[in-house]
Amino acid sequence: MRVNREDLRDTLGRAMKDLRISVTDRCNFRCSYCMPLDKYEWIERSEILTFEEITRLSRLFVRLGVEEIRVTGGEPLLRHGLEFLVAQLASLDGLKDLSLTTNASLLSEKAAALAQAGLRRINVSLDTVRAEKFRSMTRRDDLANVLEGLTAAKRNGMDPVKINSVIQRGVNDDDILELVEFSRRNGFWIRFIEYMDVGNSNNWVSARMVPKAEILKRIHARYPLKEIGRHDESAPAVNYQFLDGTGNAGVIASVTEPFCAGCTRARLTADGKLVMCLFSDQSCDLKGLMRSGADDEALVERIRSAWSTRKDRYSEERLEAMNSGEYRPSQRRKIEMISLGG
Ligand code: SF4
Repeated sequence: MRVNREDLRDTLGRAMKDLRISVTDRCNFRCSYCMPLDKYEWIERSEILTFEEITRLSRLFVRLGVEEIRVTGGEPLLRHGLEFLVAQLASLDGLKDLSLTTNASLLSEKAAALAQAGLRRINVSLDTVRAEKFRSMTRRDDLANVLEGLTAAKRNGMDPVKINSVIQRGVNDDDILELVEFSRRNGFWIRFIEYMDVGNSNNWVSARMVPKAEILKRIHARYPLKEIGRHDESAPAVNYQFLDGTGNAGVIASVTEPFCAGCTRARLTADGKLVMCLFSDQSCDLKGLMRSGADDEALVERIRSAWSTRKDRYSEERLEAMNSGEYRPSQRRKIEMISLGG
């Protein structure tokens, strides 16, 4: 069925094309850049959106222009029966792409059901393939499960299976080539992500960030590659092909080459708040409105109003401030990444 989409634009002329939906703030890992806190106030279960509420909102987002949905968390596979939500989203009229970001620790047992529900591709967060380092970075001993999950995704026909690796200097920058080799050997796509100042608690310092240029230089010295560009103008990753024809790599350079000008992503938290930027501390409560009995038109109006007044360009502002020596990450409050999704 054809869906009449609105051409909704924000104050900088950006369309709303992607929606990232966090289905839980819970995670079974404790990665330092995302969930560094020992104490965290988890969202009450009764406040978490039901699958029906998520599907209803998603349908409205598609009407307003969204073409791609990514399900995220926390760790989305901790949400019981996630495949039922995937099936509902996969059947939305007008949705062109559905993906899932996971740490893959539970993927081997869920991949078949997810594929059957209509999930065609998947992104796995994995920062090292060394067991000892994996344990120290995630504070969990799950590398074998993650590797099995990757294999299960491939076996169940997900294509591409992408690996997202956040690189931190002095932590896992010596894993870059190993991650490349692992991905090439197994037919996965590898995407490196510059370490960012997400949330308020990860004590980000720019010295720990390995810039895109350095990541590429290290890979190129061993496995020469050439740029093939972004998948589309709003894609965060710039992609590269290995000259020997085996596989590809990408880099998401949010810090050194911000891409806010093409940012078409809206985010929905597990408790139904609409957030316009990964680094924002502002949100708009859709769940409260929905549970007060609002009809679809009122919800659409709330989303429309939030997007049309959006002016976020955090990463561009960060680069400007870094270049003038004035950047102080702690002075700007943000929503923690664990509740927002990557
Ligand atoms: S910093 Fe915010 S506006 Fe810029 S690309 Fe990231 S999410 Fe989009």
